Amino acid sequence: MPTFRAPRGTRDLLPLERAAFIRLERIGAELANRYGYRPIETPLFEQVGVFERGVGAVTDIVEKELFRLAPRTEDGETWALRPEPTAGIVRAYVQHGMQTLPQPVKLTMTGPMFRYDRPQAGRYREFWQFDIEAIGDPGPAIDAEVIELATRFYREAGVVDPEINLNSIGDAACRPAYIAELAEFYRGQIDRLPALERDRLERSPLRLLDSKDAVMVELNATAPAITDRLCDACAEHFAGVRAHLDALGVGYRLDPHLVRGLDYYTRTAFEIYPRGVAGQQSALGGGGRYDGLVELLGGKPTPGIGFGLGLDRILLALEAQGTPPVSEPGYAAVVVGADPAGTADRLKIATMLRAAGLVARAELGQRKLGKQLESAAKERAHFALIVGDELRDGQVQLKDLEAGTQKLVAVDDLVRELERAQASHHHGSGR
Ligand code: AMP
Repeated sequence: MPTFRAPRGTRDLLPLERAAFIRLERIGAELANRYGYRPIETPLFEQVGVFERGVGAVTDIVEKELFRLAPRTEDGETWALRPEPTAGIVRAYVQHGMQTLPQPVKLTMTGPMFRYDRPQAGRYREFWQFDIEAIGDPGPAIDAEVIELATRFYREAGVVDPEINLNSIGDAACRPAYIAELAEFYRGQIDRLPALERDRLERSPLRLLDSKDAVMVELNATAPAITDRLCDACAEHFAGVRAHLDALGVGYRLDPHLVRGLDYYTRTAFEIYPRGVAGQQSALGGGGRYDGLVELLGGKPTPGIGFGLGLDRILLALEAQGTPPVSEPGYAAVVVGADPAGTADRLKIATMLRAAGLVARAELGQRKLGKQLESAAKERAHFALIVGDELRDGQVQLKDLEAGTQKLVAVDDLVRELERAQASHHHGSGR
């Protein structure tokens, strides 16, 4: 047993897995840019109040799962690691007066989030999200644009046919009456409620709809649905979202019992699952509208909508569907040679190749040439450059490890030769 291990619920992303994350981050950054979202970075921790207000004090995320940092100063501030990105981004929007910019302000961020949850498959204490926020547009057209962006991210990531679950959860005008009706429904079933849910009933009845408890799942199937009780403005907004999704050809499933685990959501709410798979643990991502949040965090009333897509879950989904993970990057060339004193020559050639943008490694150890070539082949390098006596005439042996052929090439021609080989190679393999 090693003396130290990564903390429970966290994991090291070893090079192959890190590369898979980087691929997703790139897809997200490129897509966000294409849709006009600008990158932002907020701190990994915030004052606790940002989350207590911006997420909601009675939510699981704040009540049970917040990673609070012990204060070290006398100024009384307490901090917590961010459990989700929206509250921090909206805090930044308010702090930097972004309401004076042309609206909506469209922002994107990708990074680790922290929740002190019980770790299990697909649920970590540190996990990664690709996040999009459009602040300052009441919708409904932008709601559809944001959802379409999410579906495009999954498509480009290679997730086969994910399912969008969609609902509207009303607003301050219609939700209170619905919540009262819901509470009444649960009170009528009080004997069936698990202790935790009974405890929550009076504080946040909406939370019970979100419960993963088997008894609750059954009970919730017959609970009153908000969708039938939306006020006219919310109903019209919801119809607008669906009409725009239909116009874009984005498929979705209406789920009248979908509520998001965060208090600040209004109207549009959505979650994405691998097709045919249910259960919170496998949610690939979720998002929704938060028209009350900016004001809650001290700004003037401003609507907003966004999503957070779980990158860890996407990699799990890709694995489950048998999509091959990213492969190790292959060397265009490994520079080898029999002369133990030849490291400077080998390094110079590798440096020249790297300067030209080629992926190269030089043998800097003292192994026998045969071993060096064996390693290069094992690493699936395309070429071995064998540096020997011919270097006096400015030449090296270019050995094609895939084709098994070998020829003398002038050092000055190496870059051109390797680039040409690489171009036809990529063509041939259809990459
Ligand atoms: P939420 O804000 O809870 O809906 O989270 C948005 C997305 O982040 C979820 O749909 C998951 O894909 C991912 N996610 C949330 N919590 C975790 C966790 N503990 N471990 C891994 N992924 C998570």
